[in-house]
Amino acid sequence: MSSCLLLITDTTLRLADHPALVRAGESGAPVIPLYVHDDDGGDDWTLGGAARWWLGRSLAVFQDALEGIGSRLIIRKGDAAAEVAALAAETGAETLFLTRSYDRHGRAREAALKRMAAAEGLTLKRYGGHLLFEPDTIATQKGDPYTVFSPFWRACLKEKPPKPPLDAPKALAGPVTWPDSLTVADLDLAPKPVDWAAGLRGTWTPGEGGALARADAFIVDSLASYKKHRDRPDLAHTSALSPHIRFGEISTRTLWHRAQEAMLRNESLEASAEHFTRELGWREFSYHLLYHFPDLADAPLRTNFTAFPWRQGQSAELTAWQKGRTGFPIIDAGMRQLWRTGWMHNRVRMIVASFLVKELLWHWRDGEAWFWDTLVDADPASNAASWQWAAGCGADAAPYFRIFNPILQGEKFDPEGAYVRTYVPELAHMPPEFIHKPWEAPALVLSAAGVTLGDTYPAPMVDRKQARDRALKAFEEVKTAQ
Ligand code: FAD
Repeated sequence: MSSCLLLITDTTLRLADHPALVRAGESGAPVIPLYVHDDDGGDDWTLGGAARWWLGRSLAVFQDALEGIGSRLIIRKGDAAAEVAALAAETGAETLFLTRSYDRHGRAREAALKRMAAAEGLTLKRYGGHLLFEPDTIATQKGDPYTVFSPFWRACLKEKPPKPPLDAPKALAGPVTWPDSLTVADLDLAPKPVDWAAGLRGTWTPGEGGALARADAFIVDSLASYKKHRDRPDLAHTSALSPHIRFGEISTRTLWHRAQEAMLRNESLEASAEHFTRELGWREFSYHLLYHFPDLADAPLRTNFTAFPWRQGQSAELTAWQKGRTGFPIIDAGMRQLWRTGWMHNRVRMIVASFLVKELLWHWRDGEAWFWDTLVDADPASNAASWQWAAGCGADAAPYFRIFNPILQGEKFDPEGAYVRTYVPELAHMPPEFIHKPWEAPALVLSAAGVTLGDTYPAPMVDRKQARDRALKAFEEVKTAQ
């Protein structure tokens, strides 16, 4: 029997609940899993540094997992359609199994594969797996895409619930002779010229095993308090599954069912499990937007923002934000958490994004690009949709007059300052009442804490009142232009 190819991408790095992989195995043909590394995404959004680090680790783990079930991962570099065609010719494969993509680059790859398959007489079989609901099956009564989250999610919940996840196959038959493969090291994904990934290595275990362990720990230890504490960066009660989900190491369908099962076992978990599922819904919504508005990463959804007077380009101000030296402790803690671990708590992402686009009036695309390069969970849909949300130019966006106050947000969500102390050690000895506003502390308190503003820790980089007035004025103009 001729063999079949299984296309592996950077969003399908798992054995469990991987429909394309399971169906390829069930076809009875020897399966050749193929990962094609395409470093030329065709636009600015090729993988950022932190995501490249994650991908290298995750590919290595996936390769081992495939070997554990008697298979292998063939690695090639270049254009996916050309590499698939070459491997099909080399192995005599007649069918290609793949998982559906939704971003611009993935869709272009899929279209090229389709053209190639038609030309070469290869059968192409495409499966879902990355989302709970396919974005082209959810529409308003008029048949339009949703641009507001709540009705979108209500419409999703009216659909048939996601089917139970598929088990990981225990074996995957391969060809008698395996084709040549590059190694993961050949892909040159490790940080360079210096190894800046120590903080990432200390925080994460990329790969399916790490994903399942984190999901188990979350359900057992944190789901019960998720609703109550999910906004508290100091308590770390969210799942921190986002990079695992981003790389497809665990399916959201698995998480959906884990949350449902937890709820059935214990009624008191209902509110938290529903809230957690709703957050998965925000990811679905981001993909819905990306699918229907493919330029989400680059162009404002509200076109009246096209001429908005954003400030932009690299400058001392942008660098201060990127490096966590703004003089606003909760913002600096968030930006340093991102730099050190490749991840930031959702509440803090909202605060730092609001600060950049409103207080500094900086272009949301500069923030989006920084997150893209530094986040291990950098996701083409969630990152773009969230930055547009923060900037007020996206679907269901934060209203223009909502400017997160970093002091009040810090006091509310990090009341003792534990989060700030972790990432801004120069403020470690500040008492809680001043940790989010050290400039208001009496000289004696500052000196007892070893803090000299402008020296050991920056003075606030903007006068918030002036910055707020400037932002409101600029946003008012857009509003009147609507
Ligand atoms: P949990 O609270 O445990 O939620 C479970 C899962 O639901 C998450 O892992 C994630 O997949 C999804 N999710 C939760 N909240 C959101 C949300 N608001 N939007 C979309 N999906 C969500 N998330 C990314 O995965 N990648 C990004 O590149 C990204 N960029 C962001 C940029 C900005 C400016 C903001 C404000 C948010 C961004 N988010 C992004 C969304 C959110 O911050 C993260 O998904 C969340 O912090 C991940 O932590 P968690 O896994 O502990 O989430």
